[in-house]
Amino acid sequence: MNDTSNPSDPASPIIVMDQVVKRFGDALVLDHLDFQVAKGEKVTIIGPSGSGKSTVLRILMTLETIDSGLIHVAGKPLWHEYRDGRPVPASEAHLRAMRKEMGMVFQQFNLFPHMTVRRNITESPIHVLGLSKAEAEQRAHEYLELVGMTEHADKFPGQLSGGQQQRVAIARALAMRPNIMLFDEPTSALDPELVGEVLTVIRRLSEEHDLTMLLVTHEMEFARQISDRVCFFDKGVVVEQAPPEEMFAEPREERTREFLKTFI
Ligand code: ADP
Ligand code: MG
Repeated sequence: MNDTSNPSDPASPIIVMDQVVKRFGDALVLDHLDFQVAKGEKVTIIGPSGSGKSTVLRILMTLETIDSGLIHVAGKPLWHEYRDGRPVPASEAHLRAMRKEMGMVFQQFNLFPHMTVRRNITESPIHVLGLSKAEAEQRAHEYLELVGMTEHADKFPGQLSGGQQQRVAIARALAMRPNIMLFDEPTSALDPELVGEVLTVIRRLSEEHDLTMLLVTHEMEFARQISDRVCFFDKGVVVEQAPPEEMFAEPREERTREFLKTFI
């Protein structure tokens, strides 16, 4: 076994990023990042614009590659696999399998505009997981109920408010039954009066499900309420991390204090 973590060990973190480097051209966006998330943990990432927060989520979701370092998700390597005991770059089949561990909710919802709400949710369970149409529709109903959107199942995204679209996007990600949910500023694109309904859904998810959650947000009060741990990112590294009550009351690092000041 070449893996650095043991998948059968429940104490082993579900996400392990080890010395991850990511460059875009000359810009060093992740600078030998070490970062871990335990199974069932709710972790919030905060930090200035451009600090690499979205890049971390996009790399985990396999939407961006890495330049060096190791990443393991659920005990399995993400960006490489082993053939005859040797590490080789991950094949498309390996990446496809790894993607099933994670669901992602984006700032801009990213629903399919030409499909009804119901079809937005059933599409991947049918085509990726091989569920029958009836099974997928049952599942869509279940998750639309969870986000309070059952009566909108036959509408198209364009007929919904931003908050409603984001709740559908959450249902769509959940319908794949991922072990890990990634949220990238899920309320940043919303009018202020629509933020609450989306945060309520995410808060309920965090309380009632043993999902692992990794969430980027600028909603500090919300981060305080739902997080087991808050992580402050700057320039592609974790500057400081602590339980929310510590992080918000007595941040240790000057950079964290400067950042948090802008939210008072
Ligand atoms: P954050 O989410 O913390 O605001 P990002 O992870 O989106 O930051 O971006 C980190 C840095 O990487 C920024 O300087 C951004 O401009 C750059 N970047 C992100 N994606 C790309 C890309 N596809 N091509 C070039 N530069 C990118
Ligand atoms: Mg971002």
